[in-house]
Amino acid sequence: MKQRFFQKVLLSVIIFIVIAFGILSSVTPILTKNYMMKKEARNMYREANFVAADYGISYFSQNSTLMDFQKQMEVVGRYLDCDVWIIDPQGVILFKASDRSVALHNADENFMEQIEGFDITDFGNSYSHTGDFYGYFSEDVLSVFSPITVRYTLKGYVVVHKPTEQIINTSNDVTMISYYTVLILAILIILAVLIWAFCYQRSLKQITDAATKYSKGDFSQAISMRREDELGCIARTMSYMADELNTLEDDQRKFISNVSHDFRSPLTSIKGYIEAIQDGTIPIEMQDKYLNIIIFETDRLTKLTQDLLDLNKMGHKGVRLDIADFDINQMIRTTTMTFEGICQKKGLSFDLVLTGKELFVTGDMSKIQQVLYNLIDNATKFSNNNTSIKIETNIKNEKVLISVKDHGIGIPNDSIKKIWERFYKTDLSRGKDKKGTGLGLAIVKEIIQAHGEHINVISTEGVGTEFIFTMPLSKSKEKL
Ligand code: ATP
Ligand code: MG
Repeated sequence: MKQRFFQKVLLSVIIFIVIAFGILSSVTPILTKNYMMKKEARNMYREANFVAADYGISYFSQNSTLMDFQKQMEVVGRYLDCDVWIIDPQGVILFKASDRSVALHNADENFMEQIEGFDITDFGNSYSHTGDFYGYFSEDVLSVFSPITVRYTLKGYVVVHKPTEQIINTSNDVTMISYYTVLILAILIILAVLIWAFCYQRSLKQITDAATKYSKGDFSQAISMRREDELGCIARTMSYMADELNTLEDDQRKFISNVSHDFRSPLTSIKGYIEAIQDGTIPIEMQDKYLNIIIFETDRLTKLTQDLLDLNKMGHKGVRLDIADFDINQMIRTTTMTFEGICQKKGLSFDLVLTGKELFVTGDMSKIQQVLYNLIDNATKFSNNNTSIKIETNIKNEKVLISVKDHGIGIPNDSIKKIWERFYKTDLSRGKDKKGTGLGLAIVKEIIQAHGEHINVISTEGVGTEFIFTMPLSKSKEKL
């Protein structure tokens, strides 16, 4: 994988750089040459204008001598590294000045040089022209014109020539500089991409190695990565997932061992008593007592099985709730009635503080009944004898708060969080209730969560416990 990743990245970068170079080498020289030509023409035109407007006019108006004009032309020619010509309107060359010398062509000296076929209109509207200038040059030159006018009369033209080769050479130098810059940039880009690819590939390998382990069921290895990008995010998510799966596995193992234990102990005692009855170890007059124990244990097993089935059903996401409006006050009254037997035995009484005669809430009636049953069952089991259990309903912010409060053994602080776990029982409660399996509150929590509601517990060891859960106030019956 490493090689393929590197090869792909390297190949892509090289292809990109080759294409970029191709475009650069075909476009840049043309653009640079055009730009240099235009720039040079502008410079030359500015100077030609200056010669025409200043020295030219001054000479043709007889304000300066021929010698002055010659000197000035020589300086301009040198400065511009160009040939500067003065041509009269008919195309007769009056002066020729190059950067080395000034040649004077004057009618008086019979040295007049007529440009064959000279016609200023040949150049159209443009002030510049590229070519051999009527065959006067053996190579191409850039020629720029500026007219000399004295009192509205055209006296001639200043023409400045520069060999195009000179401009092209400068343009080539600029192009070469841009090539070198791009080459250095390309090398830097390749280096940066290779370093990036190396780091990326190393992180990728870490993730794929971990993923391979996870796929084999080994969730022990977390991926340690300090990256803040997408890979870092994937690594963190995968580590979290592995951690969760690890805990889930632990939970499952604990769950299975708890279930097995809870099934094995009653089954062992049932088997022991039945064998003892069968082989006569337990005399007939004692059999009733032991048969009652067998019935007690079978009841426990039936309840345990039912609770497990309930939990299993609710453990799946999207548990189906039969939502309807029902009177929670009425439900509390009827549920407490089922506990009359145990209440009489322990001298317990119910103190119902219910809001309104009827109080309608929205939810799954049978499941909420199960919640109430489990909470009241716990309250009666763990209450001290001859105390009262207070059940209250209140309305707060569109919610109905249902509280079940007992005066009993309470829950130790370090157990408060654990009571919602499956099979958890506090040490205090074990002696008081042998029948309980520790699944009641786990079922309660699942039901309340399935409704999108909340349940809380407030407890003081040795004083008592209060469970409070919320239910949505029925919208249609609110005003009743
Ligand atoms: P089950 O409900 O399955 O018959 P259980 O009552 O022991 O068994 P839960 O209802 O889940 O199980 O309660 C878990 C534990 O929380 C109890 O065993 C007990 O230790 C503690 N507990 C729950 N309610 C109370 C309470 N009202 N007072 C004191 N301890 C409580
Ligand atoms: Mg219980």
